[in-house]
Amino acid sequence: MIGVYQVETLNLYSIVNDAVTKQLHLETEYAGTFTVPPNAYNPLRQQYDARTIVNVLVERNSTQYDLSLGFVDVDIYVSRMSFIFGLADPVKKIALVSTFRLAGERFDERVAKETVHELGHLKGLEHCTKETCVMHFSNTLEDTDQKNAVFCSNCRSQFE
Ligand SMILES: [Zn+2]
Ligand SMILES: [Zn+2]
Repeated sequence: MIGVYQVETLNLYSIVNDAVTKQLHLETEYAGTFTVPPNAYNPLRQQYDARTIVNVLVERNSTQYDLSLGFVDVDIYVSRMSFIFGLADPVKKIALVSTFRLAGERFDERVAKETVHELGHLKGLEHCTKETCVMHFSNTLEDTDQKNAVFCSNCRSQFE
């Protein structure tokens, strides 16, 4: 079972549930809202530290789910990256997705792709060189729009 958390300003559960059941054949459950901790904010970067946010979900999760997904609408980063769309921590079994840079007509589709991508990492997948594969690394929103919401056959074979 996958627990889905989101900040109060988002309403993504149905998009996420659709994508996860369709692409990964896993069950999800709405796990409730959470708050981005003020100490995650880095005033120098004017962004939020993704790893600090993941730790809040660790506390919330208390291992009741096999995997957990958290959704935030603030701009997130990890060190050495100017920004990230999402972060997966396979040890903590938690992934975080930010909608901050996904706005636009294709918002739902982008959320679905980033969700499936981060879950792929939680399932042990690395980045894929195929540009159309959902596990292809997104450096820009164009990269996200170019890839499909599905795993290529090679990636799929690694977790099925
Ligand atoms: Zn990735
Ligand atoms: Zn692939």
